[in-house]
Amino acid sequence: MSAAATPPATGEKPHAVCLPFPAQGHITPMLKLAKVLHARGFHVTFVNTEYNRRRLVRSQGAAAVAGLPGFRFATIPDGLPTSDADATQDPAAISHATMHHCPPHFRALLAGLGAVACVVADNLMSFSVDAARELGVPCALFWTASACGYMGYRNFRLLIDRGIIPLKDEDQLTNGFLDMPVDWAPGMSKHMRLKDFPSFLRTTDPNDVLLTFQLHEVERSESAAAVILNSFDELERPALDAMRAIIPAVYTIGPLASVAEQVVPAGGPLDAIICSLWREDPACLAWLDGREPRSVVYVNYGSVTVMSGEELAEFAWGLAGSGHDFLWVVRPDVVRGGTASAEAALPPGFAEATRGRGLLASWCDQEAVLRHEAVGLFLTHSGWNSTVESLAAGVPMLCWPFFAEQQTNCRYKCAEWGVAAEVGGDVRREAVGARIREAMRGDGKGREMAHRAAGWKEAAARATVESLANLGSLIDDVLLSGTSR
Ligand code: UDP
Repeated sequence: MSAAATPPATGEKPHAVCLPFPAQGHITPMLKLAKVLHARGFHVTFVNTEYNRRRLVRSQGAAAVAGLPGFRFATIPDGLPTSDADATQDPAAISHATMHHCPPHFRALLAGLGAVACVVADNLMSFSVDAARELGVPCALFWTASACGYMGYRNFRLLIDRGIIPLKDEDQLTNGFLDMPVDWAPGMSKHMRLKDFPSFLRTTDPNDVLLTFQLHEVERSESAAAVILNSFDELERPALDAMRAIIPAVYTIGPLASVAEQVVPAGGPLDAIICSLWREDPACLAWLDGREPRSVVYVNYGSVTVMSGEELAEFAWGLAGSGHDFLWVVRPDVVRGGTASAEAALPPGFAEATRGRGLLASWCDQEAVLRHEAVGLFLTHSGWNSTVESLAAGVPMLCWPFFAEQQTNCRYKCAEWGVAAEVGGDVRREAVGARIREAMRGDGKGREMAHRAAGWKEAAARATVESLANLGSLIDDVLLSGTSR
């Protein structure tokens, strides 16, 4: 064991180093977990890459990364562009940069931090396992997406071995090949079709960056001391069982937001630490306060989704035609290649057509919005954080998956968990309006989805008790396993 890994002296707090993957959907859950660990007695170092640190300072001010006693921030280089104009949300660029640029810097950081008890890193930063091993401390990997998504990626190996992926030619993207039923994939739903696997299989290139990166990262999980998920057994048992068969230790701590609420004191100093890359619009909650229960459609495509101006216009007219009130979060960069504000991105005439019925915002406190009783439906890209937040709040969903394992989450929500319906890949205003009306109705499919969503809300509340116990085991059996207590 190197000097840097010396166990803390009696009375000193164990030191956890948390390393998120630099994207919003990864930073948010890692920060929650870091706060939970702090509340459970750890000294925390939260490591941002330079690119994200710059973005955080821009959106929240320098105080956001100043840290507090016992909760420090550190930064490592990532090789990503330095100027605002070059800001990228491109997952391939970020994955390539982190994989090739971060490892030596993270090792050097760890070596200089003094006594470290454990590393908790995003599963997509799996080089951390080697860095922690060199230091002689345990490394737990946090898979911030779903267990079904994880198994979707793991099954890429089988799909490659069977000659199904990479695709033979571009025609297979459109000729029905992706509709192929895949009811034989270990750990996965019998309702899976090829198109429900993570979108990175939609390539003809065997060396595609995202295909190879994701496969590499999930296959590295086995070398970690444990894998942590923001999920729960009642929701994802078959996929979690399949994970447990290949990974030494799997800890489910979801819904993480509920666990954090139980563990982290409300109104405490940690509230000052925010890792949102955009500024929240405070008007959203006040606007919802004035609406009837379950009357509002909440629309948000997360932090990475982009679309064409035509697709945005179809959503706009679909919402207008639905007849329902809506809260629509339009990120300024949601239109591919556009830099316009939310209002400027929308089609002419939309504001007049929906006056008094809708609120537009560029970013919101999503968890608070989903918990607001006025929200009756969530039109979502189906990112995993959004999915768990919606399930925990009992809100049914309408799905428009964009990429990665969002396709898999969408399939499970519609075919396994019964809480959602699909908009359809080729977005059409008539379909958007019709799906919304159907989902908001108190009978038929809308009633069934609302009923199932209420059931998952109860299950999520039950799971919180179990997840708190799992958190205790994770801390005692893994994170503190290298320290003398
Ligand atoms: N989020 C938010 N406000 C917004 C949009 C998103 O706070 O206006 C949060 C959301 O609550 C979730 C995360 O950003 O925790 C997005 O993660 P998700 O996995 O749903 O999607 P991604 O952004 O990674 O595609």
